[in-house]
Amino acid sequence: MKFAATAQALGHSANRLGVGQQVVDRLIEPMRIIEVTIPLVRDDGRHERLKGWRVQHNNLRGPFKGGIRFHPDVDLDEVKNLALLMSLKCAVADIPFGGAKGAVRINPKEYSKGELERVARGYVRQLASLLGPWSDVPAPDVNTGEETMSWMVDEYAQATGTLSPGAFTGKPIWLHGSHGRTPATGFGGVAVLEALEGTGDVSYRNLRTVAVQGLGNVGYHAALGLERAGYQLVAVSDALDGVRDDEGLDLERVMAAKHATGRVAIAGRTGLKRDELLMLPVDVLVLAAIDHAITAENAPMVQARVILELGNTAVSADALPILRERGIVVVPDILANAGGVVVSYFEWAQNLQGYYWDEDVVLERLRSKMRGATARVVELARAHGGDLREAAYMVALERLVPAVTGEAARKLVTSAA
Ligand code: NAD
Repeated sequence: MKFAATAQALGHSANRLGVGQQVVDRLIEPMRIIEVTIPLVRDDGRHERLKGWRVQHNNLRGPFKGGIRFHPDVDLDEVKNLALLMSLKCAVADIPFGGAKGAVRINPKEYSKGELERVARGYVRQLASLLGPWSDVPAPDVNTGEETMSWMVDEYAQATGTLSPGAFTGKPIWLHGSHGRTPATGFGGVAVLEALEGTGDVSYRNLRTVAVQGLGNVGYHAALGLERAGYQLVAVSDALDGVRDDEGLDLERVMAAKHATGRVAIAGRTGLKRDELLMLPVDVLVLAAIDHAITAENAPMVQARVILELGNTAVSADALPILRERGIVVVPDILANAGGVVVSYFEWAQNLQGYYWDEDVVLERLRSKMRGATARVVELARAHGGDLREAAYMVALERLVPAVTGEAARKLVTSAA
């Protein structure tokens, strides 16, 4: 039960901060869970009904915010967990959003583009009255992307009679999207790592060699950002295999191989079985592929000093004590991969302003947000002697608890008087 594991970890941090159980319970339970049935007429005329969800976890700090995934194995527990993580992530990044997540149970590989468009539109039709720039702002997630968002924006416009780009993020540039959204999660992770190195703590000193699991959007941009920042990329893996060169890999050559053959193996370099990458003796292991890539089973074999958790729950709860015991630092997902939602926030802000920023402005503001979030997490980790995940939960709590207790609202009223 993923939701229960996250709730338990949050409860643990809350206890350490002395937050009362009633407040913790309010922070954990989602405010609203909506289940929808989406009717679909297939291209060949068959009728199907697909199950979907939107979990609006909380809007204590701003509109609900979170992606929509299309996946055959998704269930309500997973959506609830991801929605809770979004509430925490937005609080850690200190952006004015709550948390939400949406999903449709579908295997997109078995459907035509036209069918997927009808599913995306059907999902929005069912939920239109609950979405909007000041109420709930979806984004792409696993197996959805810019094009899905463009269908959704259009469907939402038809349902409401208004083109409202701020109701969705992760849109194409031509439809009021933001520069810098595509590399945001990967580059954001790099900014976190650099900020950690900047603390001078012994755990983050002299980080040089890097292995990256997963070369999709997040993994590729993390690898690119790390290469540009002077780290040495010594191994990468993708769904089928991996490749290693202790002298340093050329990322563009690897990507060219992946595009040409579907595999990352390149001539003259050591081939790796896919999961061997997880056990390499590197300074930094970047997880940017699947959830539960590291579990209690393989955690004893990990040799990296630092794990950058860019995939949500890429390290399972039962692996964490093993890694901690072995002195391996895990930079938690709600900090490491917050760059995506930070630039989503910038996209929303640009939409509301009707004024668009250059890419270098977006990326500099992203770095600044990620540096600020990392600094506060490190500060609380030092103050309370916990690891970075516990400290990240504490940062989320210090921003969410006043909103639950009404303290934040009281402060606003008092300062306005
Ligand atoms: P993606 O689909 O673009 O890339 C995933 C990559 O991982 C693919 O290249 C796939 O071939 C590879 N892969 C799959 N299984 C693998 C395995 N067992 N070993 C190695 N590689 C494997 O997805 P993405 O957008 O890059 O997202 C990656 C992760 O980051 C997901 O967990 C996602 O939830 C998380 N995330 C993404 C964003 C974002 O902005 N895209 C934001 C926050 C979190």
